[in-house]
Parts: sequence; structure tokens; C-alpha cells
Amino acid sequence: MLTLDVHDRTKVISALPDVETAALIACFGSVAESSDELEHLAGRTLARLRDQRQWLACRCMPGSTDGPPLMAPRQREGVLHIFRLAGKPHAGGCPFYRDLNDSSADTGVASSGGGHSILQPAGDSWLILDRNRDAGDAGEGEESAGPASKPRSRPPSLAVVLFTALEAIGLTRVRPDEIRSVRGQPPMASPVANHYKRLRQLESRAIAPGVPWSIAGCTYLPALGRFMAHTLPAHFGDFNGHRPQGLFLGMIQSIEREGTSAVLHWQGKVADVLTDARIPVYGSLKRFGAVRDAAGPFWCAAAIGQRLGESEFRVLQAYVHPVHSKSLLFPVDSNLERLTARILLDQLSYWSKPNTLNALVTLIKPVFDLQSADGTWCRPDFILEFDNGRQIVVETMGRDDPVYLADKERMQAFMRGIPGTVDLVTYRPGIDDEAEFRRTLTTLVRTHA
Ligand SMILES: [Zn+2]
Repeated sequence: MLTLDVHDRTKVISALPDVETAALIACFGSVAESSDELEHLAGRTLARLRDQRQWLACRCMPGSTDGPPLMAPRQREGVLHIFRLAGKPHAGGCPFYRDLNDSSADTGVASSGGGHSILQPAGDSWLILDRNRDAGDAGEGEESAGPASKPRSRPPSLAVVLFTALEAIGLTRVRPDEIRSVRGQPPMASPVANHYKRLRQLESRAIAPGVPWSIAGCTYLPALGRFMAHTLPAHFGDFNGHRPQGLFLGMIQSIEREGTSAVLHWQGKVADVLTDARIPVYGSLKRFGAVRDAAGPFWCAAAIGQRLGESEFRVLQAYVHPVHSKSLLFPVDSNLERLTARILLDQLSYWSKPNTLNALVTLIKPVFDLQSADGTWCRPDFILEFDNGRQIVVETMGRDDPVYLADKERMQAFMRGIPGTVDLVTYRPGIDDEAEFRRTLTTLVRTHA
């Protein structure tokens, strides 16, 4: 069997016990065949390595002049995984080998969701069917396949595309003038903000070099049927050698089911008439990360293409991510985060008032990983950013499980190291005192903004 060595970041110091190596291969290797028991062992092994600030060296390339392929324990969303260090490829047959063209390789366009790679923006091609040629034909979606997949599952490229787009059009940041706050009601987007207008900024973008948004992009679910039936087929020849494909980036109200398929559902008033749109997903539908019970509305990114042997265009893959509300299109990761965001948005508006603090605070949802001063990558739930560049990290705490809390605490130490961060506040919706949370934040804003 393959041997992994423990590496102190400068040299190999000892061999990792075979049983631990086997667990890591089972959980993170190319053919993952893990069990709860193996996952616990892999998790404990990685936690120990991380705590001792050690790496792993792989013996798959004996005699390599560049030294062994190195891997480091990394954490996201409370789950540890193996991160393959850049520039240190594994031998082709090694279970830790990854094709560098693989869109979810650790160093490339990283993935998200259960994400165990560093999450970074997509490049200039948002066409994903070229990359996952068969993914759309896989049939059974995650949604319909019973139990949620394990958090270590590979993060979807569509999530990366969605996050990249949201950052590009500024929907991962909210300023006080974008909020309309009415006492006792959830915050809404102010008329000046009109978050839907931001989607129009995508129209000036190319989806891939030479492929304009106008032939390949759609942002409104009720228009998607027409788009698939007319727009895409009319532009067959314009894809510059790419497989003809479209991208839907927009809001949906909920996910419904029809038989074993997931159906994207939008509902709203169009010229005062209640309108429903339902578009089935023929391949996989993925949700964000380990938390899969979030309620709608959602941001949705979907890849549209033809299945093998068919001429019709269909939604072949979709990714959905919870959003604060249908009015205020600010992404959140879970129901709990939605509750925290509601309070933060409310506070933003309150702090901005001339008769309170007159402070301009921006709420940020980091959708990509941020690097702490010591080089560790982490992704806080929320950031409150002040005009002077200082910021406060806000973490929503969910479970009370001690292992989870200990892990969160360790990550929070890194989050405090993100440049500009002056403090970190945690909040457990439904458990912690909300008024106290608001007061704590106000004190911090008064002190640092
Ligand atoms: Zn290897």
C-alpha cells in the first residue's frame, strides 16, 4: 500500500501509521469508499496533524528531484480535508492524483458547497458542460438520491460561477442606503438598491471568450423555457467550438419535486398577475454545503445543454444557494444565517442614522475564502466593514456539539487574523439574547468605525 509520511514543513519526520493512511485514502482518494468509522479516523488524523502544524508527504514519486508531493490539513465549515499543495503533483496512479484540468482541483477553480478546496473565483469561462462532459447526463440528482451526500463531496463548479457573478455585480455587499427598514418587519431592499437591476450588469459580460451573455445567459426563470426553445438553438454556431450551452443565473422561490426530478419554481406577480414558472432539472441539483435544509428563496445557477442523442435543450445541472429574501438578494448559507443577517441588516440601517451613530457600515457575505495573516484560508459567515477599512467578523453558531464548537473556535482564531479585523462576535439565533447581540455590535461600531 501507498505510504504517507508526516512532514514538519521542512522534512519528513516519520511514516504515518498504515491504518491512518488507509482511512485518508478511503475518504479523500480518487475512489472514495469511506464509512463513518473511517471518516472519524481520517478526521482525527487530520486534526492531530493540524494541531501539530504538520503536513503529509506522499511516497508516490520516489526519487523525484522536486521532493515529495505535499498535502496539508485544511478546514472549511467545520470539516477537515486534505489540501494538495500547489506545484506538487502526484504520480498518475496515486490515489491522491488529480488532473490539473479538473475544475475542482485544489489549486484551480476551487469548488464550494461541501468544499474542501480553497474557494476562489472562476476564470473567464463560465461554460461548465465542457468541463464535466457527462455530468449532465448522470440522471439521478442529489436532491432525489435520498440522504444528503457527505460534506466532503466535490463542490460544484456552478457554485463557483454563481459566487463569481454575485461578487461581480456587488450582491455580496449591502450598504445602509440599500435597506428599507420598517420596525417589526424583515428588512427590504430600498427602491434605489433594486437588486434585480444588478443582474442586468451581467448582460455586458461574455460567458466565455467570444460567447456573449445575450446568446447564452438568462436571469429570469419565467423566460427560461423560451430561452431554451429559441435563443439557444438559434445560436448553435456561435459557441466557438464549445458544446452549445446556456447558463441560468437568477432567483427561484423553492425547489419542488416531480417524480424523482427536482423542479425549479419561481412565483411572483407580473403586471399584477400571479405567475408561476416551473422548470425541471434533468441532472443533478446541488445545494450549499453540509446544511441542506435551508428554505427558499434561493439563488440558482443552472447549466443548460443537450443530453446525448437529444436535440432539445434542458437544465442539466443546477446549484441553489439560500438568499436573504426575494427583495434583498443577499446570499446566506443557512436558515440560521438568514436570522443573523436580518439582525445585521437592521442594525446597518440603525447605525447609519444621523441621530444614532451616523456610521456607514457595509455588510459583506464572503463567498470566497479569505487568507488570515498566517496564511490559513478561512471563510467567515459575515463581515461588518467600516469606512476606515476596519472590520468585525460575525459568526453564526449552530450546533452545540462540543467537537463542532471546538473546531469553530479554532477557525475563529484564524478569522481574527484576517487583515483589518478588530473583533469577532458570535451569535446563536434562538439561544443567545438578541438585544444583547445588538448592543455588543453597537458598542464595537461606536469604538472602531
Ligand atoms: Zn501521491
